[in-house]
Parts: sequence; C-alpha cells; structure tokens
Amino acid sequence: MPNDPFKNSIKQLERVREIIQLDDNIFEQLKQPQKIVKFSIPVRMDSGKIKVFSAFRAQYNDARGPFKGGIRFHPGVTEAEVMALSAWMTWKTAAAGLPLGGSKGGVIVNPKELSAGELERLSRGYIREIYKFIGSRVDVPAPDVYTNPKIMGWMLDEYEKMTGAHDPGVITGKPLSIGGSKARGYSTAQGAAYVIEAARKKAGLAKDASVTIQGFGNAGSYLAKILHRQGYKIIALSDSRGAIVNPSGLDVAAVERHKEKTGSVINYPEAKTVKSGEYLYQAVDILVPAALENSITRKNVNAIQAKLIVEVANGPITPEADEILEKKNILVVPDILANAGGVIVSYLEQVQNAYGYYWTEEKILKRLMHIITEAFEEAWKEKEKYRTVLRMGAYALAVKRVAEAMKDRGWA
Ligand code: NAD
Repeated sequence: MPNDPFKNSIKQLERVREIIQLDDNIFEQLKQPQKIVKFSIPVRMDSGKIKVFSAFRAQYNDARGPFKGGIRFHPGVTEAEVMALSAWMTWKTAAAGLPLGGSKGGVIVNPKELSAGELERLSRGYIREIYKFIGSRVDVPAPDVYTNPKIMGWMLDEYEKMTGAHDPGVITGKPLSIGGSKARGYSTAQGAAYVIEAARKKAGLAKDASVTIQGFGNAGSYLAKILHRQGYKIIALSDSRGAIVNPSGLDVAAVERHKEKTGSVINYPEAKTVKSGEYLYQAVDILVPAALENSITRKNVNAIQAKLIVEVANGPITPEADEILEKKNILVVPDILANAGGVIVSYLEQVQNAYGYYWTEEKILKRLMHIITEAFEEAWKEKEKYRTVLRMGAYALAVKRVAEAMKDRGWA
C-alpha cells in the first residue's frame, strides 16, 4: 500500500530509536500492536436486509495504563490505519504524561449513508462484539472521525447492558448527562490553540499571524473560531468539497453559518473558492492540517510557504514530505503534541467518572492548558538536547516514558 500509515509510524519509531539508543528488546515489542481484534458487525438495515460491516480494534501498548483511543467510522478505514493510530495514541498519552496506553478502533462504513436507526444498531453492534476487550481499566474508547457524543452514549448504554453495572469511565466523549466532561466537545481545538500560542512564540511570529486550516470538522471549525477570537487572521479554510481563500481574513462565524446552510465552506460569498489543494500553496504564516492523514506529500510539499505547520490531524505529513520540510527549516508541531487536547480532556473525564464528582469548565481548561503546555515545553527540551526536530523531541519524550514503564514491568 503506498503511504501505509503503520509503516510510516514504524519509520518514525526507527528514527527515534537511533536518537535515544532504544533497547532492542523494547523495540522488538513496539514493532506491532500487543493485540488486534478484527470482527464483523451484522446490522439489520431499515429495508429488513442484514448488512455486514468489517471492524477493528488495535491495542498497541498498555505499559503505562489502560489502552486509550477513539473509534473511527469511515469508508477508507484499514487495518494498517487503525494500527498506526493506536501507536500514535500511545505516544500521545505518554508525551502528555497521562497514565494511559494507546489503542484505536474503526469500522469500514460511510455513516452518511445510514439512517439514525442503522447507525445506532451499528454502534451497539460494535460494542457487543468488543465488550470483553474493553473496560475502564482495560481499554477506553472515544470519538474520532465521524463518531460523536451521541454514538458514545449508545455505546456506553450497550456496554452497561452487557455487563450489568454502571461504569461511565469505559468510554469518553459522552454526553454531559451521562458522565461527559465539560469542554470535551472543543478540547482538541482548545489544546491545539494553546500549543499554537507556544509554538508561535518559538517561531517568532506575531500575535496576528495568518492561518490556513485544512478541514472544517470538529477539530478544524472550533480551532478556527478560537484562533479568530484570539486575533489570528484566518485566511483560508477547506473541507472535502473545496477551499475558500481571503487574504484579508475570513469571518469564521459567518463561514460556519454558510456551511450550516449549504453543507460546505465553498462558495462563501466573501472569499474566493479554489480547487481542493490549491489553498495549501497560499503565502501564510501557520498551516494547520485538520482533516485526514497523508494530505501533505512529496507532490505538494514544495509549494508550501508556511513558517509553522501544526498537525491537528493525525499523520497528515508523509515521512518523505516531512524530510523536505526539515531541510527547509519549517517548524512542524507533531500530531502527538498538537492534537493531544482531546485525549487530555478524555483523561480528565475518566478521572471525574472515577470520583463521581464533576468539575467546572474553568477548572478543566486550566488543567488542559497546564498539561499540554508542559508537554510542549518538555518535547522542546528533548529537541534541543538531541539537536533534532520537534517531532523527534516529542517521540523521544514519549518512547522513553513507555520504555521505562515496560522495563519497570519486567518486559525487557
Ligand atoms: P471531522 O469528521 O469532524 O472533520 C473532518 C473534516 O475534514 C471535515 O470538514 C471534512 O469535510 C474535511 N475533509 C475531509 N477530506 C478532506 C480533504 N481532502 N481536504 C480538506 N478537508 C477534508 O473530524 P475531526 O474530529 O475534526 O478530526 C479531524 C482530524 O483530527 C483527524 O485526523 C482526527 O484523527 C484528528 N483528531 C481529532 C480529534 C477530535 O477530538 N475531534 C482528536 C485528535 C485528533
């Protein structure tokens, strides 16, 4: 497979292995997930016919604590993608210093083609097949691409029905009424905004730096709003149908209203609609890929003019493109730091579930800011120590923490 995401994740691990002199016995165990569950979910469609969907759960490493990772509903889901995402979750939780491991789930489905009833039966079916492998102290799912709090609510309910006990900490990103956390809905974007603020200072950019965001979904749209509010100039936004550009700055709330009405950002009247991909080449200070993986490749990387790239999507830059960015001295904040806000607030949700006591939004945001900013600064220190790029600084921090836990458990 070209750009096999799991192979890409191992390439990153191989590189950090050299930098930190990782123990061979540890490396051997990190070359694949600890466990992969593959299963099929039969769903009765509204027509009365049964349709079978293929699904996965990859549990990469749980040396530091229960596996943790979202569930993606997407027609393009592959086993390799889920495996890669489970590895990235492991590095992400470790870099943030959370007492968690990493996992990821996925179903090959286009949820836009399902009715609400079919989607509910699919979500409950996922849990019926996997419930023995998850648990608040085993493996804790959450939302990812095309899954949301409503789906998490169905999944929690199905799990509690199967096990016969309340256990809200088994899944995060739940609705507030059943143990969700305040701020979870926009936590990835808020975390990314804290990281962008820290990275902007390191890159010597002004407070009103210009920003392009690829992807206007959960992460991208909240981030656009937060950055716009903070005084950044959002000059280009895109979704799966195309992109809009306005070098003097976009009114993000107005774009959102346009998207609600028309289903896309394209044809927003106060901007130029351009072909998908073209907007990446605009002169801009900060480029934020917030859609899917492999969007910045060897083919389009040379035209990028940004000074800072912040990976809000998971794995949006291929390793070949990453090398070119490194040679061009463009600062890249890796996904495992930039989008950790979601899993950090998920962790805070688990803690609140364990206490049975819920905090204010203010308290949660304060904790999120503290955890993510500290992770960024620690990764920066590793980058300086090993004279490497920030991605490797973050990997060094994360992989050393995982390796230490594996050693302390006697795994190597
Ligand atoms: P989402 O489904 O809400 O949004 C995805 C967006 O990307 C949509 O606007 C879609 O139209 C757009 N898109 C798809 N293909 C595109 C293309 N070719 N060009 C431009 N835009 C395109 O998903 P999300 O939750 O916002 O997640 C986006 C990325 O962020 C994913 O990589 C996800 O793994 C990562 N992420 C999300 C969270 C979270 O809490 N939401 C947490 C960590 C990481």
